[in-house]
Amino acid sequence: MKLLVTGGAGFIGSAVVRHILKSSEDTVINLDKLTYAGNEESIPTDIRSSRYIFEQVDICDATELKRVFIEHQPDAVMHLAAESHVDRSIDGPGEFIQTNVVGTYTLLEAAREYWSGLTEEQKGKFIFHHISTDEVYGDLPHPNEVAAGTELPLFTEQTSYAPSSPYSASKASSDHLVRAWQRTYGMPTVITNCSNNYGPYHFPEKLVPHIILNALAGKPLPVYGDGSQIRDWLFVEDHARALVTVAKSGKVGETYNIGGHNEKRNLEVVETICDLLDELAPNKPEGVNNYRDLITFVTDRPGHDARYAIDAEKIQKDLNWTPEESFESGIRKTVEWYLSNKNWWQRVMSGAYKLDRLGA
Ligand code: NAD
Repeated sequence: MKLLVTGGAGFIGSAVVRHILKSSEDTVINLDKLTYAGNEESIPTDIRSSRYIFEQVDICDATELKRVFIEHQPDAVMHLAAESHVDRSIDGPGEFIQTNVVGTYTLLEAAREYWSGLTEEQKGKFIFHHISTDEVYGDLPHPNEVAAGTELPLFTEQTSYAPSSPYSASKASSDHLVRAWQRTYGMPTVITNCSNNYGPYHFPEKLVPHIILNALAGKPLPVYGDGSQIRDWLFVEDHARALVTVAKSGKVGETYNIGGHNEKRNLEVVETICDLLDELAPNKPEGVNNYRDLITFVTDRPGHDARYAIDAEKIQKDLNWTPEESFESGIRKTVEWYLSNKNWWQRVMSGAYKLDRLGA
């Protein structure tokens, strides 16, 4: 099978590419613009082969997309390319509208033109898999806001969209475009909405790597507000496995929520990382006794969602996918990875990234 993966040099896309190359005979066409968040070094050279093709292309470039479809004749598209950082979307939403909305539209049109020219048999096998986020659903009641003992709701595939940030609004728009292309043109699509990911090769502006690297540098560990916001954390390799499962076995026209059943408060995540670093990196920077002492509460993000939590029953029941990592095992692997892969993050950080940006 030939899979066209957009955004395959990013955090989740590179996990998808690594998973495909390691666990199948499939060919991957990694299509990525290589923005500040894209890094082809996230695909180690020892797993690249003739089954790995890289195309540096912007998903807003219709001419180039057309060329890629004609040249590589993919059986499926896995669309991950996006601007993905909420704080950046608040500072400058334009890029998010351009890539996430206009780019998805441009890619849908290129895919539709290509799909229309396939034989009936090939058409029946083709799928456009759009990768999205649980943030399109807005937020959920927080345990602090409800009476003790009240059952807390989860996001299901039927939850109405109510995005809060320019990022989540742009992703919601792209989800609507994908559904419209399915309904109007009959192009076979499938959508997944996933919770917060963490793991290796995560760009250091996001919460988990930001905290690990700031702690190792003896810098303040910024936590928004009181750190009570709840996210449902999923190890990136579990997400990559779920995505490939959906691309290969998902039912056309369906949506699948993906999550780890790991609801954690942001402060709890930061404290867990500090405790792991106390154990795994005991030679602390000068003046630091415990990494937790570096925690600094900062002004909350505007419009900050209180709680996200996914009901992942559908993908578990229909496609037999379950996460393999608990939060405890996954976060330990993640901290260990950053400690033994300094070269990767030092090279990444020598680029556009500024260490003083706040985490997601
Ligand atoms: P990322 O920011 O790490 O990677 C995005 C990739 O897309 C980068 O390699 C970048 O170079 C590429 N890209 C950006 N604009 C492009 C363009 N115009 N043309 C071609 N390539 C472009 O993002 P991520 O965290 O890996 O997220 C991947 C996808 O998964 C996104 O669609 C995101 O909305 C979704 N998602 C992310 C999370 C999460 O926790 N990170 C959770 C759920 C869903």
